[in-house]
Amino acid sequence: MTPLHIHLEADEIPKHWYNVVADMSNPPAPPLGPDGKLVTPEAMGAIFPGPILEQEMSAQRWIEIPEDVRQIYAQWRPSPLIRALRLEQALGTPAKIFYKYEGVSPAGSHKPNSAVPQAYFNKLAGTKRLTTETGAGQWGSSIAYAGQMFGLPVRVYMVKVSFQQKPFRRSMMQTWGAEVFASPTDRTLAGRNALASDPNSMGSLGLAISEAVEEAASEPGVCYTLGSVLNHVAMHQTVIGLEAKKQFAKIGLYPDIIFGPCGGGSSFAGIAFPFLADKMAGEKRAQNLRCVAVEPTSCPTLTKGAYAYDYGDASGYTPIMKMYTLGHDFMPPGIHAGGLRYHGDSPLVSQLLFERQIEAIAVPQVATFAAGVQFAQAEGIIPAPESCHGIRAAIDEALRCKVTGEPKVILFCLTGHGHFDMASYDRYLSGQLEDYDYPSEAINESLKNLPKVGT
Ligand SMILES: *Cc1c(COP(=O)(O)O)cnc(C)c1O
Repeated sequence: MTPLHIHLEADEIPKHWYNVVADMSNPPAPPLGPDGKLVTPEAMGAIFPGPILEQEMSAQRWIEIPEDVRQIYAQWRPSPLIRALRLEQALGTPAKIFYKYEGVSPAGSHKPNSAVPQAYFNKLAGTKRLTTETGAGQWGSSIAYAGQMFGLPVRVYMVKVSFQQKPFRRSMMQTWGAEVFASPTDRTLAGRNALASDPNSMGSLGLAISEAVEEAASEPGVCYTLGSVLNHVAMHQTVIGLEAKKQFAKIGLYPDIIFGPCGGGSSFAGIAFPFLADKMAGEKRAQNLRCVAVEPTSCPTLTKGAYAYDYGDASGYTPIMKMYTLGHDFMPPGIHAGGLRYHGDSPLVSQLLFERQIEAIAVPQVATFAAGVQFAQAEGIIPAPESCHGIRAAIDEALRCKVTGEPKVILFCLTGHGHFDMASYDRYLSGQLEDYDYPSEAINESLKNLPKVGT
């Protein structure tokens, strides 16, 4: 029998996170204020606790994972690395396909990898309550769970369209004790402004961020948490790649190509950066390694956005960061709500792409669901729609290997299961899903509103 799961013991959960900043050839561009000046730690301290800020700014290669965090990780980590043998057979490819399955966490995705340390460090720093935003509900449920693990109350501003379309993600958050509001709300200035200009606003991730940041900035003891994009989030997610490296070492293989879906870039960073470190260190086995971020054509941040300074939110409350962006007032149509629909991207992923250390591609919606269904029929697991982007790319690569005869080792991050996304599968299965390419004119229009500093 071919073993399918590559097993690790609980004591093989990494003891440190990997910080790619230490190995980048150029230091990351610093976050700036709207005046173009460096953001002071004091300004950031209004919404983030000290230990998180330290990690955000750190250039130290290894950062210790506290024992209390590892103990909670141990509820589901080490996560399995699985050989997709049945998918390989269905495709008739000489490639070996592996996936690192992050859907085994309590919230069903990779996001608790960062939610747990964020809740832990906030608790340590004396934070009284956490705020956050959530789009599809994956991050909100992860931080609700993590807050509960450390006895920290959590408030979630949930994009209204998802609040209505994904009632079970809301009840999941409430089960873990969080308060959930449909954004835009009348609780914040940002929300009231949005409602004044459009009383029927269905919200957006950028707007929900503004609401959560506003609450954190205006109430002492309240801190804000973000589920992707920022350096510390990308770093927390490296437990994925660090475990995968140990798992590959056990079977004497090494990936030739790594795919991951890319929304804000945290899970992609998490699976790719620890392998990229080998390449940057000049290790022979990693010389031809390719790391490819996969995004939707409906939100083509990395493939069609500008590499420029932009705000992280719709209202311009956050510092400006240098990243690939579609413009902070990019407003996705309501039907396309999901975990990959953010206007910006991780500054670290962006810079590494700009420097051509990694690659990015965009795939259309219908083809991603087709890949998800093909994967489910071969491997059993029903993937989250976000995860299907990485699967599409992995299948396409395996099919190319079939033509060339190359026995490549393909790795992708299966970021989560799709059990709360069956309404989207329904639409695909009944032929109602359409491809949607975000029009270049609309991108150019929103890029006109980029902040005029830092360029
Ligand atoms: C949030 C999410 C993503 C995208 O977020 P990243 O920060 O880019 O990883 C991908 N897959 C799932 C299942 C998610 O919940």
